[in-house]
Amino acid sequence: MNSSSQPIIYLDNNATTQVDPAVFDAMMPWLRDEYGNPSSVYGLGRRAASALDTAREQVSSLIGSTPEEVLFTSCGSESINSAILSAASIDPDKTHIITTAVEHSATIKLCEHLARRGYEITWLPVNSSGHLDLEKLAKAIRPDTALVTLLWANNETGVLFPVQEIAKITNEKKVPLHIDAVQAVGKLPIGASDLGVQFLSLSGHKLHCPKGVGALYVNRRMRFTPWLRGSQENARRGGTQNVASIVGLGKAAELAATHQEEERTRVKEFRDRFENTMLTQVAGTEVNGDRENRLPNTSSLSFEGIESEGALMLLDDQGICCSAGSACTSGSVHPSHVLKAMGFTNDRARGSLRFSFGRFNTDEEIDKAIEAVPTVIEKLRKLSPAGSPVLAAQE
Ligand SMILES: *Cc1c(COP(=O)(O)O)cnc(C)c1O
Repeated sequence: MNSSSQPIIYLDNNATTQVDPAVFDAMMPWLRDEYGNPSSVYGLGRRAASALDTAREQVSSLIGSTPEEVLFTSCGSESINSAILSAASIDPDKTHIITTAVEHSATIKLCEHLARRGYEITWLPVNSSGHLDLEKLAKAIRPDTALVTLLWANNETGVLFPVQEIAKITNEKKVPLHIDAVQAVGKLPIGASDLGVQFLSLSGHKLHCPKGVGALYVNRRMRFTPWLRGSQENARRGGTQNVASIVGLGKAAELAATHQEEERTRVKEFRDRFENTMLTQVAGTEVNGDRENRLPNTSSLSFEGIESEGALMLLDDQGICCSAGSACTSGSVHPSHVLKAMGFTNDRARGSLRFSFGRFNTDEEIDKAIEAVPTVIEKLRKLSPAGSPVLAAQE
């Protein structure tokens, strides 16, 4: 395992991100001297309430909504759960939910739970590029459909669903749409109001803010039934607000707006330089999913003839952090449900690694990763009992 003296090369920014020092600094006063309850009427409380107002404006400005349409939650998963449960509970006759086969576990687990409670779930398939058939989506909508819920950007492959086109379909059919935009926010322009989505989820820790804070956009014309009841957040989400973390989320949102261009340029260049080098230098390497309609920071690669678990260990020895599919399913030996849904074999899914870059990476780190990864893949192929089919075929 990696010794602590070794510098970390963090290429797992879709799992979580390093806290931006400016976010940390913005949070500090709210953890120490400014401990007021935002619901209290004296100055100490009012200052906390005003800090929440500022954060709400910062988040709404990043996603293109009004501040009133933003409610703070404890994480992306809570936002997703709240949106789905709200939509599912509005009309008792509407017990059909449409989602996709490649969602984050927060959506999958809740939909599976609802299926056991009598809801009918349509799991839309994807093709080998990771894309939906929008005609199929339109046809799946029925009079009893309560909600369509799907990702904007896939956390494993970075593949983007055409949210604008999807919103056109759902609005025409007057079915609410929830977008899990946890990976998209900060990396792409959002424009929630213009899009015409009813719900949109985001999470702080994918945005250089600490873990344990998120937000849910609820369109002002959409009815909302709280999941966690209490008086806070206009009675839409109970619990005294996590003021420090929400201040951090606001700051992170403000920074994300200023860094968005960098995602499309500098971070994308890191990703492309790394990916193109792997494709040319390591035989038997393929990109998983559509290379065009994809997040600028994500590279999901399959390396023929390796086990990704072994690669993670050897890369960790060199201080390199990446992922074998979704972090939420790591630790289990099951091949990624996303790659399986794209029709890949178990072997291809098991030989896949996800590299996700971020604003704190440097050119030198990319250089080191470009050296280390091919060596690790070669080593694993030599170790594997079958040898390397690809290299053998080339000789
Ligand atoms: C990380 C992630 C989530 C969950 O967010 P948490 O704040 O960790 O609960 C949901 N959806 C996607 C696409 C994610 O990447």
